[in-house]
Amino acid sequence: MKLFQPDRIYFEPRALEYPLGKELYQRYLKSGIPILETTSHNQVRGIPGETELQKYRHAKNTLVVGVRRTLTFDTSKPSAEYAIPLATGCMGHCHYCYLQTTMGKRPYVRVYVNLEDIFQSAEKYIQERLPEITRFEAACTSDPVGIEHITGSLKKAIEFMGQQERGRLRFVTKYSHVDSMLDAKHNRHTRFRFSINADHVVKYFEPGTDPLHKRIEAAGKVARAGYPLGFIIAPLIRFDGWEEGYTHLLKNLRKALPDESFADLTFELITHRFTKTAKQIIQEHYPKTPLDMNEDEREKKWGRYGRTKYVYPLQARMELKEHMESSIQQLFPEAEILYFT
Ligand code: SF4
Repeated sequence: MKLFQPDRIYFEPRALEYPLGKELYQRYLKSGIPILETTSHNQVRGIPGETELQKYRHAKNTLVVGVRRTLTFDTSKPSAEYAIPLATGCMGHCHYCYLQTTMGKRPYVRVYVNLEDIFQSAEKYIQERLPEITRFEAACTSDPVGIEHITGSLKKAIEFMGQQERGRLRFVTKYSHVDSMLDAKHNRHTRFRFSINADHVVKYFEPGTDPLHKRIEAAGKVARAGYPLGFIIAPLIRFDGWEEGYTHLLKNLRKALPDESFADLTFELITHRFTKTAKQIIQEHYPKTPLDMNEDEREKKWGRYGRTKYVYPLQARMELKEHMESSIQQLFPEAEILYFT
């Protein structure tokens, strides 16, 4: 998988007042990639495309460099207290991705250059909760590793959190270019998580992300660099042969990981779910998707903001839970399963 290079880049004029904004501008000026201006990163005009689908595809290849104005962080349960906003949007094309509903008509990739403001806000949140530890999730609105070769912001966030006695960072990725972060002074305050899945799910539903073996190889590297490691297996999907598929994934993972990985290892397990709105958007963006979203075969669950989610029926969920948890306990007796949902 090649590193992401945008087809066009928009800059907010104010972004050039910050060192990272200036650096990106100078770098891309020489690259030959078209540079455009936008008054606000929230409203970018002129992305090409005749149809909605073409616009969506072009937007995914568009980078917007802006200033983060909202420095109030969203909450991020269950994996952390707050979401730390380093970027919004992702170049990946996972069919089931929740960003498709949350980002609406703005699926372009936004990166924020006022990192000092963002870190100051994080410090304030840490202070407010003392003596408790405060955890920040950096992957709520993007895949921060996927754009790290462009901004270097994640490494800065890792080193910032390394200095915070009561602050912790976590994020999850489907990308594998982790080398620039291996020498970061993380102080074990960052949990580096990888999103993995059975071959079937990676093959049919995760275009535009790195192959599974590259993610697992990267996981070994970060474990050797002393980071606490984690895996999110999501969405858990009941495709034909799912039991063998997930057993195969976990057995391969056990074989491929170096010994350093097992000392502090976590798993998070999330079953597939969708809303009616998500289903409609997914079918517009990926009209040929084989993703099963038949409401008649699902159970309704009331989600946040009164949205109804369609989850697997209880019996099917329990089978997934039993299979995943017993396989993990057998193959990774040292690991902690943080939740199954
Ligand atoms: Fe969404 Fe993650 Fe896939 Fe990017 S890599 S499209 S954030 S699921």
